[in-house]
Amino acid sequence: MNIKTLVLVVAAGSSVAFTAACTGTQTQAAAPDAVYVNATVITMDPAGSTAEAVAVRDGLITTVGSSADIRKLAAATTRVVDLRGQTLLPGFIDAHSHFPGSGTAALYSVNLSSPPLGPIESVDDVVAALKAKAAETPKGGWIRGNGYDQTLLKEGRHPTRQDLDRASTEHPIFITHASGHLSVANGMALKLANLTKASPNPKGGVIQKDPKTGELTGLLEESGNLVGRLIPRLTDEQQQEAIKWAVTDYASHGVTTATLAGGGLSPAMRTAGKAGVLTLRVVAMGGLGDLSALPPARLDGDEMLKTGLTVKMVHDGSIQGFTGYLSKPYHTVYNNDPAYRGYPRESREELVDRVKALNRAGYQIAIHANGDEAIEDVIVAYREALKDTPRQDHRWRIEHAQMTREDQLDAIKELGISPSFFVSHTYYWGDQHRDIFQGPERGAHISALASARKRGIRFSIHLDSNVTPMRPLQAVWSAVNRITRSGKVLGPDQRISAIDALRAVTIDAAWQEHDDRLKGSIEAGKFADFVVLAENPLTVDPVHIKDIKITQTIVGGKAIYADDSGGTN
Ligand SMILES: [Zn+2]
Repeated sequence: MNIKTLVLVVAAGSSVAFTAACTGTQTQAAAPDAVYVNATVITMDPAGSTAEAVAVRDGLITTVGSSADIRKLAAATTRVVDLRGQTLLPGFIDAHSHFPGSGTAALYSVNLSSPPLGPIESVDDVVAALKAKAAETPKGGWIRGNGYDQTLLKEGRHPTRQDLDRASTEHPIFITHASGHLSVANGMALKLANLTKASPNPKGGVIQKDPKTGELTGLLEESGNLVGRLIPRLTDEQQQEAIKWAVTDYASHGVTTATLAGGGLSPAMRTAGKAGVLTLRVVAMGGLGDLSALPPARLDGDEMLKTGLTVKMVHDGSIQGFTGYLSKPYHTVYNNDPAYRGYPRESREELVDRVKALNRAGYQIAIHANGDEAIEDVIVAYREALKDTPRQDHRWRIEHAQMTREDQLDAIKELGISPSFFVSHTYYWGDQHRDIFQGPERGAHISALASARKRGIRFSIHLDSNVTPMRPLQAVWSAVNRITRSGKVLGPDQRISAIDALRAVTIDAAWQEHDDRLKGSIEAGKFADFVVLAENPLTVDPVHIKDIKITQTIVGGKAIYADDSGGTN
């Protein structure tokens, strides 16, 4: 038995041993539990190898090779899975999402998205959808909506409190923008939150007021929590239902590891883990608590469910909500202020202090920064913190990294920072970035994947679900094609190859999580986490990549999703 066993001691005195080979070679001692043969295996190993077949035992890959050789390993007890020419890849690693937010939204919130994600095309549609929900909700009960996008509404503006009052004055209503950074409340919800025209803006946010009358418009920038915190928590049962929904959705799109970008593991997630509901692996970044009481970074959990090592912070907002923090003004004038360039959540100095403290406590750090000025603050903070307490191989992240400039990529390379790009923006908001928020030049440079690749910067790509649906192949398609909703190509120079895009949802995403020794490629000794695709993304027409069918998703050698329309197994 050559597979190395790695024992990780976890918090609270318990210890979980998980076998995770670093350099494993195949063991002949026991027959595989399963062999997957007759596939195109894109291994994502350092040599870029392909193979035909894989053998699995005890949840780990034992051998990768030709179908003929792997078949020879099978004993009578071995399950032989003939993949009939399909493509086997390492399971997709969601590098940044808000699991199980897509389940919560789908089950407990009105879908206010515009096509293709939902039916809403105007403010009147928003009102009608909320009104329908109000009709079936007891008076006084909260109504939630999510996913509206003012740029896709006929009126080209946010709904107002008055619009929402047309849906109901007897229910508090709270709706969230597609970016998650803006929200609108109706009169009753604002009243419950004690928000009035006299309410001052909270730190790092804006309570929008009508410039003429000073009255609240209902729009809350980066401060939805002022109202959102009043909404009753979902019951335990509802939370479990949301988790089940999200597991099914993620699994059916090939995800074998979900990463929670902030907030740590909720009690509901731990319950789901114990109950076996979480069939995919979950890595949770913590939120930022009280700095003065910051515990040292410490692994809490095991290979299925873990947290404790990474802290996620948010430094600016969303470009498509005009709250991303830019070095130069927005392309179109916002709030009648031609110099307006968004704002950060806190000052550069405050950020530097936080990052230093997190570094001293040993954390991996991930900071949301969309605008280039916010990205600059993060780079400065990382540089200062590394001077303060030098650290090798930190893999500190910038989340979304949307407006990263070329000179900033130089600094990112120099400091060993790793961006997680939200490249699907090129599709979902690419036209608006070009025409409304950034203008043609800056717009073409969002998600500068090719520039990062040229410098040898390792990065992941993500979907930020429930901001956009969890569809890793959509993110790969966006990275390869950069096609906008209107069918134009945004920034053709920044397109990357399909293999590089696949790295960003497999091995490089695993590397970002310091888990590349365990997963992200199909190599002996790693977890048997796979996705089976009906077609090979390296050889299909690149515009077809997002439509490739996922036929199986496998975690630790167990199928957690299988397409039952036939074809496999
Ligand atoms: Zn996010």
